[in-house]
Amino acid sequence: MKISFPYMGTTVIYKTLLELLGHEVIQPPIPSQRTIDLGAKNSPEFACYPLKVILGSYIEAIEMGATTIVTSGGHGPCRAGFYGETHGRILKSMGYDVDLIVFDAYKRDIMGTIKNIGKIKNGKSLIFLLNAIKTVYFMSKAMDRLEKKIQKIRPYEVTKGESNKAWEEIQYIFSGIKNKDDVKKAEAEGQTIMERIKTVSISDSNRIKVGIVGEIYVVMEKSINLKIEEILGSMGAEVERSQYISEWIDYNLLPSWLTKPHELEILNRGAKYIKENIGGHAKQTVGHIVDYAERGFDGVVHLMPFACLPELVSQSIIPAITKDYNIPVITLAIDEQTGMANVQTRIEAFLDLIKSKRMVRIA
Ligand code: SF4
Repeated sequence: MKISFPYMGTTVIYKTLLELLGHEVIQPPIPSQRTIDLGAKNSPEFACYPLKVILGSYIEAIEMGATTIVTSGGHGPCRAGFYGETHGRILKSMGYDVDLIVFDAYKRDIMGTIKNIGKIKNGKSLIFLLNAIKTVYFMSKAMDRLEKKIQKIRPYEVTKGESNKAWEEIQYIFSGIKNKDDVKKAEAEGQTIMERIKTVSISDSNRIKVGIVGEIYVVMEKSINLKIEEILGSMGAEVERSQYISEWIDYNLLPSWLTKPHELEILNRGAKYIKENIGGHAKQTVGHIVDYAERGFDGVVHLMPFACLPELVSQSIIPAITKDYNIPVITLAIDEQTGMANVQTRIEAFLDLIKSKRMVRIA
């Protein structure tokens, strides 16, 4: 079968897992205006923005020959739990015959997970499958470590754009991974590539640190969030995202006694503001803002997809956190109408605010 997946963040990780299992992988193109238009045209108007863009990605993958799509499901009181069903019905109504394999949280659907594993393991033994999963897990950890370093170097690069190029190169190196030894070699090579980037030196007191929080898809997929990390970096801010793929795996796929996921701490930090699970990543959004404030970050960018109810709730709580912790937070609503010039202007003004706040503190 020709297999594909949703495009989100470091897709080389999903691609590698499927290739290690011997599948013919159809990598969907980087989401573009065409992807967005295709998704928006064929989705209900009131659907949340990620549902539309992911639908557009599926259509493009099917046009390229994909017959099966593997994705993760969601749970809790938001639309993520219906993505599989909704996407499946829309694709069927458009005349596409595609097998949508949806991995829901394994603790909630053990039989469904076993059935899905049977479908994607492609006749390989369980040991082979576990080794492949281990390889991509170590790969995700290594790539996240390197990406976090890139996010810290970008604002200080001498030649503009060098960090972005380095990250592209690193992702390419990781696309050839076959086993754990390859991961080690790729990480060492990535480290060497980063050390070649010339940076200006800056004292710790002059560094500006900004956290990025919000719904997972808009936080992780740069083609959809208008390359917010690169914009912040080019304007002199170090960034850290609330979502990294290896941390998502730790929290969602592995037993907590094995990994002690960071996300559990984050949820505890946010519990004062949101007690119930309201779906999506609202609790994490709130918890991360508190965490960034406690860790001395200068500000937070909150990304909220259009029609996302959980992030609308977290947006309404943000003023209380800002007041309690004295940390500036800017919310950017992301949809098909969001323009680059608008985002750049607002981020520039936000960084000016952070700098003036700092001047007042020093004076
Ligand atoms: S978290 Fe928001 S954007 Fe994501 S599925 Fe739920 S409602 Fe949609």
